[in-house]
This record gives sequence, C-alpha cells and structure tokens, in this order.
Amino acid sequence: MGHRLRDIRVLISGAGVAGPALAYWLTHHGARVTVVEAAPALRTSGFAVDFRGPTHLGVLERMGVLDELRAVQTHAGAMSCVDEHGREIFRLPAEFAGGDLEVRRRDLSRVLYERAADRVEYLFGDTITALSETSTGVVVDFARSGSRTVDLVVGADGLHSGVRALGFGPETGFVRHLGHYLAGWDMPAVPGVGSVPEQYNLPGRMASIATDPRDPAVGGAFVVFAAPRLEYADRDLGQQKALITRALSGMEWHVPRLLAGLAAAPELYFDSISRVVVPHWSTGRVALLGDAAWGVTLGGMGVGTAVVGAYVLAGELAQAGGDHVTAFAAYEERMRGYASKWQRGANPGAFLAPKTAFGLRFRNTMFSNGLVRRMLVRSTKSLATAPELPDYLD
Ligand SMILES: Cc1cc2nc3c(=O)[nH]c(=O)nc-3n(C[C@H](O)[C@H](O)[C@H](O)COP(=O)(O)OP(=O)(O)OC[C@H]3O[C@@H](n4cnc5c(N)ncnc54)[C@H](O)[C@@H]3O)c2cc1C
Repeated sequence: MGHRLRDIRVLISGAGVAGPALAYWLTHHGARVTVVEAAPALRTSGFAVDFRGPTHLGVLERMGVLDELRAVQTHAGAMSCVDEHGREIFRLPAEFAGGDLEVRRRDLSRVLYERAADRVEYLFGDTITALSETSTGVVVDFARSGSRTVDLVVGADGLHSGVRALGFGPETGFVRHLGHYLAGWDMPAVPGVGSVPEQYNLPGRMASIATDPRDPAVGGAFVVFAAPRLEYADRDLGQQKALITRALSGMEWHVPRLLAGLAAAPELYFDSISRVVVPHWSTGRVALLGDAAWGVTLGGMGVGTAVVGAYVLAGELAQAGGDHVTAFAAYEERMRGYASKWQRGANPGAFLAPKTAFGLRFRNTMFSNGLVRRMLVRSTKSLATAPELPDYLD
C-alpha cells in the first residue's frame, strides 16, 4: 500500500462503477475514503456493459480484477435484428456489441466494490445535500449522516450527478437530451429466445429480449423509443411504466409479453439517452468523474472510460502528493481528449431506433454489409485505446 496520499480524506459520491474504482485506487495510494451512495445497496438493474482494447483491459489488470471479471463474463455480445416474424435481418458480431470483455453491470459493480470494501467506508441510502469549501477543506452536509469536513469531494454519481448540481450548477446546463429514452427490466424468459438478444424495430421504437446465459428462467428486456423530453418523477415506477407502455403500444412480435413482464417488474432502469458536457471537471476541491463528467447513456464506453478515469485521477493526486490544484488539472488534461473523442460521435438512440422508415431501412442495409461491420469494430477499438498511461508510483 502506498502512502503518498496518507492523511488525505476523500468523499466520493456514487457507488456505481467509477466510484468503487476510484475508492480502490485512492486507498491504494494511502488515502482515507468514504463513498456515499443514494441507493440502499449496490444497484442491480441494467444489462451487459463492455470493455474494449488494451487501455480498458490494462487498467482492470492493474486493479487485479481482470481474472475475476473474465470468470463472470457473459460470452454474449452479439445482437440479432429480426422482423416481426422473428426472421433475422442482420447480426452484429460479438466484438461490436460486446467488446473484448462483456459482463453484467451488477457483477462489475460488485467486483469493484469488493476489491476495496474492507478499507473504504460506505454510506448507503444517503446523499450530499450541501457542499461548502473553506481554505482547508470542504464541509459536507448529508441528508442522514450529519456533516463532516473532508479534503476533497469527487462526484462519481452518474449522468444525473448530485455533486455536479451542488458544485457546478443545474443539470440543464450540462446534460443534453439526444431524442430517445431507454428502459430495461428483468422478466421471465421468453420461450424460443436464446442468450443472443433479439431486437425488433418500428420507426422510432425498438424492443429486445434475451435469456440470461447463466439462468435460463430469466429474460432481460430492453427497449428504446424516440420522444422529446418527458416529465416524470425519478422514483415513480408506476408513472415510468405507463410512459413505456404507451410508447410501445401497438407493436407486435414479443412486445405484448414484454409489457406484461414490465407491469410485474420490481425494478426498472429508465432514463433519457443524453450526453453530458461539462466545460471544467473541477472547481476548487471538488471534481467530477465518469458519467457525471463525460457520460453518454448507452454510449458503449461508459464503464471503460470510468475505470481509466479513476486510475488517472487517483494516480495524478498521488503523483502531486495530494496537491489537488495540480492533480485535477493533470487529470483533465490527460482524460478530456480521450473521453471527448469517443463521446462526440456517440448517439446510441439514432442507431438502435432510427426515427424514420427510411432511416431504419438505411441502417439495416448498412449493417447487413460485412465490410461495414468489420470497419465499425476496428473504429470502436481504436477510440477506446489511449496513448500510453503512466505507471503511477505507490
Ligand atoms: C442502475 C444502472 C444501470 C445501468 N445499466 C447500464 C447498461 O445496461 N448499459 C450501459 O451501457 N450502461 C448502463 N449504465 C450506465 C453505466 O453504468 C455507466 O455509463 C458507467 O458505469 C459509468 O459509471 P459511473 O460510475 O460514472 O455512473 P453510474 O454507473 O451511473 O453510477 C452512479 C452511481 O451514483 C449513484 N447516485 C446517483 N445520484 C446520487 C446522489 N445524488 N448521491 C449519491 N449517489 C448517487 C447511483 O445510484 C449509482 O449507483 C447503468 C447505470 C445505472 C445507474
């Protein structure tokens, strides 16, 4: 264990992917770390997420979690687009949809959490309600845990970051709705559907279903639909289910069964497909990491850039001996080009649910072409590969 950050107290908001990864690296360099997570436990919804290329895999290896993640990889990743009769129109290869290592988001979050849980303080079911910076630290008020003073605060609390809202300004200034919504839920498996997701489209709407490769009784439903910004309450499951049901009504194929599964689902992942752009990722002693700083919903590289960013942020802090001004600037310098190169072109809704009949035909024709598919695999891998990362000293 290193000591370069000994006596530095860091509070991280969010125990998704970026938060536990950063907690690991900061404690590796000797810092004292607390993670506050709004949910009462690690969140379990969501689907498969993937890592691509040597940069992502290299950081997982340095963390010592690569083998454990390989042991729980889905081995899925391909995607089959079908018509209303279930006939395949085209199939995306596993390397495009699933990268080099595909795991379920819940497995990833758990493995990263367990890697340093014994030396990190976790406050589940709580949030930060106020941040006020002094010359020597940040006074943090929590909804349930009183208040305390720390040296640094990092917002790793996702697309709708609470730290960003408190420290940088309202979400509307940073999060752009890209014109689609997505939803995912677990339900009983649909007979005849295997572990390769089958996806059915009408213009502006997509529904898909796959069977969990490790539990043949469980199906994962995933839908995307085009819509302008919708008003709904974050925690109102009934309202969100009604919006999704309305958006998919009248679709055939397995959709009526998917909607019956939705009605019974105890947990749901529902969000707009959005892009986050924040001009500066730090202000004083507060910094942003992962989706809070550079997210694109379903952008395909959210988890990869989150673990790389966590490695770099902790490493720069260690290298600067805890001097946050130097470290935050170096972190942003190293990560901004890498994150924004990928982020700029990412618009997953436009690919998953083209809005017009013409757009849908065009996509299907393009992806039926093997050469186009191979070019896409190559280009995502090169976007994921960063110039050499430093070996930060312990
Ligand atoms: C439930 C869920 C399911 C997902 N499923 C998929 C998927 O299937 N495919 C995909 O490509 N991407 C998915 N994502 C997004 C993906 O996890 C991220 O792109 C990537 O992991 C980057 O991680 P992050 O840690 O920055 O943010 P996230 O993984 O979003 O984690 C943020 C964490 O912060 C917590 N949080 C939010 N607000 C607060 C607050 N105010 N105070 C404290 N904690 C807070 C959240 O509960 C969450 O645990 C999902 C995200 C979530 C939250």
